[in-house]
Amino acid sequence: MIYSDQSPISFQDPLPEAVDVVIIGGGVIGISTAWFLNLSGVSVLVCDKGRVAGEQSSRNWGWIRQQARDPAELPIVIDSINTWEALAGGLKSNIGFTRQGVLYVAETDAQMAAQEAWLDTAAQHQLDTKMLSGSEVDALIKDKPGQWKGGMFTASDGRAEPFKAVPALATVLRERGALIREACAVRSVETQGGRVSGVITEHGRVATQSVVCAGGAWSTLFMANLGVVLPQLTVRATVARTGPAPDIYQGNASIGEVAIRRRQDGGYTIASSNTNEHFISADSFRYFFKFLPALSASARYIKLRFDEGLVTRLLPTRRWHDDQVSPFEINRVLNPAPSPRAIKLMHEGLARRLPQLAPIPFEEAWAGMIDVTPDVVPVMDEVAAYPGLYVATGFSGHGFGIGPGAGRVMADMVQGKRAIHDLSRFRLTRFSDGSRMQPGPGL
Ligand SMILES: Cc1cc2nc3c(=O)[nH]c(=O)nc-3n(C[C@H](O)[C@H](O)[C@H](O)COP(=O)(O)OP(=O)(O)OC[C@H]3O[C@@H](n4cnc5c(N)ncnc54)[C@H](O)[C@@H]3O)c2cc1C
Repeated sequence: MIYSDQSPISFQDPLPEAVDVVIIGGGVIGISTAWFLNLSGVSVLVCDKGRVAGEQSSRNWGWIRQQARDPAELPIVIDSINTWEALAGGLKSNIGFTRQGVLYVAETDAQMAAQEAWLDTAAQHQLDTKMLSGSEVDALIKDKPGQWKGGMFTASDGRAEPFKAVPALATVLRERGALIREACAVRSVETQGGRVSGVITEHGRVATQSVVCAGGAWSTLFMANLGVVLPQLTVRATVARTGPAPDIYQGNASIGEVAIRRRQDGGYTIASSNTNEHFISADSFRYFFKFLPALSASARYIKLRFDEGLVTRLLPTRRWHDDQVSPFEINRVLNPAPSPRAIKLMHEGLARRLPQLAPIPFEEAWAGMIDVTPDVVPVMDEVAAYPGLYVATGFSGHGFGIGPGAGRVMADMVQGKRAIHDLSRFRLTRFSDGSRMQPGPGL
């Protein structure tokens, strides 16, 4: 079931007077950060304006992908998939974690060459990524052979069920003593003597020395109210699931116009490869130049939309007082309607590429708003103007897989531990220090 404002509330801990760390957002990033802080004995409160995993973290495809990652992300995602594997065994419900690989097929020599270019990065990290011939692809995808020149495959890549995974982590986290409160928007942070001293939530104040903003698509707005510039835009991505379907492939694959993932329930999660939609807003103009390199690299995958609430988006509320209802309380769960065009393209893509799946009806369709940064990699940093305020956002369509790894990074950062990865690519100041925006591999 897709989360909405009407979904039952599962986590309703009372607000403490004080806590070591407050985390804004109960998605995979917020819950994973809380997980590692809790393991270190740090007291944590996670507040979500809506529901744990109500937004991107339950709506995604469920791919846990190392393949074709930005080189700076790769060591973190390698740690992350190992962490997913270790965590999955200790949860109360089966989250469907399994390593059945990620496959990108290639139809042309140019696509093969683009994929091959990433092999050096894989080799530097001893990853099992390899190029496949057309017949090797046919041996993996048991539907309509003979379509492909070849492809790139990483057998150690994995998948899990997004509707189950983060709520399952949150359940165990809470049993271990962390506090989690749904339907609790954080309106702002409070400072004393130049550093963070608390948060103001819609249900009252909580004293704290450290705050992690893991607000996904909302982080930019949260920061804008504090006067901090955080360029992110959102794109709508539509997904569907089939009923039980013939087993043509057990892993995750990007196959021409469609992407598929085998599900624990015997169906497939389906998406269209080129129908991400950006709804024009004031931020589209505000950050236009920063996003130009990413836009030119992915222009054929992004459709611009002007409809549905354009005026409201052009005149957003960007400032409010602590005692005022914030935008986070007005829209509890970002639950965009799925795009009929994307669904049509999925059916067409299946008919063309995977005829065995084409007749299986879609049982459900949904959409999510993805938070994208200008260079398509996240921000994981402390905000210089607000010592004690950290931000972990902008995972740009691939945060589910890297979630536990990013959570470990953030937990270490908040505790002042030495970083185990090079985090310079993820610094917030790259958007303001004149750095050129260099989007990661667009495979
Ligand atoms: C359709 C789709 C497909 C995707 N496929 C994949 C995939 O296959 N693999 C992959 O790795 N990634 C995928 N992603 C991306 C991945 O889902 C996200 O990168 C990841 O879930 C981001 O997690 P998050 O915790 O940062 O954000 P979210 O999950 O969006 O969570 C942010 C939370 O913060 C809360 N919040 C915001 N502001 C406030 C506030 N002021 N007070 C309290 N709470 C607040 C929100 O309610 C929300 O629950 C996909 C995303 C989508 C939408």
